[in-house]
Amino acid sequence: MSLAAIQSRLITACAAAGRAPASVQLIAVSKVQPLERVVDVLEQGHRLFGENYVQEAVAKWPDLRVRFGPVQVHMIGPLQTNKAKVAAELFDAIHTLDRPSLADKLAKLAQARGASPQLFVQVNTGAEPQKAGILPEATDAFITQCRAMDLPVQGLMCIPPEGEESAPHFAMLAQMAARNGLTGLSMGMSSDFEAAIAHGATHIRVGSAIFGARDYGAPSPA
Ligand SMILES: *Cc1c(COP(=O)(O)O)cnc(C)c1O
Repeated sequence: MSLAAIQSRLITACAAAGRAPASVQLIAVSKVQPLERVVDVLEQGHRLFGENYVQEAVAKWPDLRVRFGPVQVHMIGPLQTNKAKVAAELFDAIHTLDRPSLADKLAKLAQARGASPQLFVQVNTGAEPQKAGILPEATDAFITQCRAMDLPVQGLMCIPPEGEESAPHFAMLAQMAARNGLTGLSMGMSSDFEAAIAHGATHIRVGSAIFGARDYGAPSPA
């Protein structure tokens, strides 16, 4: 696969769903990828990336932004509260707002900085004990709580359980967003982004299908 191949599949999936291609943002997930692969995708003109680790992103993106100009980088991995300040300064959006203590911290940072990244509330749609995210039954109250803190909640995010069909999880997330008046839906990865687009995804997070497989044994790409 390649960036062009994924863009063309995105366009086909949008056509099948009767949606405008511009209504879906393609986040190229560059975590753990060798720098030359990331540079290659930047050279093809792509300007929206996703990262999972604050440290890796800090080592990579300030330099790349100097080289390539404005690039949007979204945080899609679990965020420790003690890294929230660095994250708020680096990222344009955080897709993993998953607990009240992180909401508190981000609200304080937003107050101090007078700005905040766009936020997505991560929902644990499969109610998996080992997975991050707000449980479905607690999500409406959590969104209300975040709004009371003036946090810019743009939408919801989910990672469906492995080995299960993604579509019911995407449908559930879309329903929860709609009833809370949220327009953003961060859902769909390399293996299921077309189904996510069919269910209304506004942000798909595609890594290996663009960059190739991740090699976690390789030295840090930073
Ligand atoms: C790594 C990651 C992705 C991209 O996964 P691929 O299967 O490589 O497309 C998407 N979303 C999250 C939250 C991830 O951690």
